[in-house]
Amino acid sequence: MSETPEPTKAHFRGDVTVDLVKHAASDSDVLFAARVSTAGEQSLEEVTKDPERSKGLVNFLMRDRHGSPFEHNSMTFFISAPIFVFREFMRHRVGWSYNEESGRYRELEPVFYVPGESRKLIQQGRPGKYEFVEGTPGQHELTSRVMEESYRRAYDAYQEMLGAGVAREVARAVLPVGLFSTMYATCNARSLMHFLGLRTQHELAKVPSFPQREIEMVGEQMEAHWARLMPLTHAAFNKNGRVAP
Ligand SMILES: Cc1cc2nc3c(=O)[nH]c(=O)nc-3n(C[C@H](O)[C@H](O)[C@H](O)COP(=O)(O)OP(=O)(O)OC[C@H]3O[C@@H](n4cnc5c(N)ncnc54)[C@H](O)[C@@H]3O)c2cc1C
Repeated sequence: MSETPEPTKAHFRGDVTVDLVKHAASDSDVLFAARVSTAGEQSLEEVTKDPERSKGLVNFLMRDRHGSPFEHNSMTFFISAPIFVFREFMRHRVGWSYNEESGRYRELEPVFYVPGESRKLIQQGRPGKYEFVEGTPGQHELTSRVMEESYRRAYDAYQEMLGAGVAREVARAVLPVGLFSTMYATCNARSLMHFLGLRTQHELAKVPSFPQREIEMVGEQMEAHWARLMPLTHAAFNKNGRVAP
């Protein structure tokens, strides 16, 4: 009697995760940098003594696009997301540093992206101005089933080559962009605002953008961390139409 082969062990996820692993970022960093223009070096006490003035100054800098005071801070995120998200992410060149796990030096884990139930599946409209609407239960079922089968086949092929001694850097060519990867990404508030202006949709945005939902999910989590660290800067970003200064 022939044995049925074990299905490939794979993990399917519809979420992304973002951890803030390190930071030196606060609204006072913006105030110090801005006030050196007119007051020279100041103590933290002096810089933050008048909350209303602080709020007004941050808002003025944002409104008039005095951007450099928003660069004197740093946030490092550990991000777990599909490769297609990282491919979009790394287009952001200015004020960002990246280090991603290697498919040459380690065997890649079988963790794959399958959209969750809330992910709108059907695209309507013209390029650059798409609208997404819900799929039917049948379309959701098909998408999950076909993706999972396809991912398993690709991972089996990867394993077959590794088992035969083929180098990881060669065998990985069969793996799809739905494979999860991990990276550290370090930025400052100014570069993060530029990213958020392009990669999130928001009712307060003066210049609407139409990002892919999965990179937006990463952006939303980074924004939540940043808003806790720099509430005045975050509020001024929203107040001024979510355009990076
Ligand atoms: C909705 C959406 C759809 C997209 N579709 C595509 C697509 O189909 N194909 C594609 O290839 N990309 C696409 N992109 C990527 C896009 O073209 C940008 O590469 C990406 O958004 C990063 O933006 P950026 O260059 O402004 O950011 P950064 O690289 O971080 O640059 C920040 C700013 O620095 C300045 N700057 C940086 N480099 C230069 C330079 N070399 N010369 C002059 N000024 C510079 C610019 O002012 C720039 O805005 C898309 C992006 C979005 C948001």
